[in-house]
Amino acid sequence: MLRLAIQKSGRLSDDSLNLIRECGISFISSSLKLKTECTNFPLEILFLRDDDIPGYVADGVADIGIVGENVLVEEGKQSLTVEKLGFSKCRLSLAVPKSAEYNSIADLNGKNIATSYPNLLQAYLDEQGVQANIHTISGSVEIAPSIGLAEAICDIVSSGSTLISNGLKEVERVFKSEAALIASEQLSDEKQQILEKLLFRIHAVQRARK
Ligand code: ATP
Ligand code: ZN
Repeated sequence: MLRLAIQKSGRLSDDSLNLIRECGISFISSSLKLKTECTNFPLEILFLRDDDIPGYVADGVADIGIVGENVLVEEGKQSLTVEKLGFSKCRLSLAVPKSAEYNSIADLNGKNIATSYPNLLQAYLDEQGVQANIHTISGSVEIAPSIGLAEAICDIVSSGSTLISNGLKEVERVFKSEAALIASEQLSDEKQQILEKLLFRIHAVQRARK
């Protein structure tokens, strides 16, 4: 039996479960259960917070998982990637207040930037030769400029409407992300075979969607 970790409730959950269902795999899901065994495929599903998924897969608590590349790379676990899945597409961007003058990334030198992704942001600033103070906060990043915590933010954007409604404008794209399938580096031969069967079905679903 292979153990798959997916997000319990959030932006990855529905598409992750739909992918498994479209693979012809049946299971009973209830919002109260933290794990469920599939009835017609040797798969057990664990429902977790997305941030915990790379760690559980790295430690072998779960064999495989579905998580956003933003979380995966932030946690330094990109080596676990098996393949990209094509959903939950978004980007990590820098934004400043709409009224702020902004010409180039150099304008962020010496500024305070609030984010939940300090590692991805630091790597980007280093690459751009910019020195700024990163303030790591775990949520509601968009309000940081209006409460005086930071002059800029670095956060997940898809349509950009959240930025606009908080009086911000997107100025740089830091990282492009989509959901990825990840796997433990130490799968038994038996689990490896189940994973290959699952991948075969996932590829069939992806071809059918095109
Ligand atoms: P959890 O409670 O599991 O920690 P969360 O609040 O951290 O959840 P969500 O907001 O559900 O996470 O986002 C999960 C993932 O979905 C993100 O890490 C990102 O990869 C992707 N994502 C986030 N926002 C969007 C968006 N607007 N559109 C598409 N994908 C997104
Ligand atoms: Zn999370």
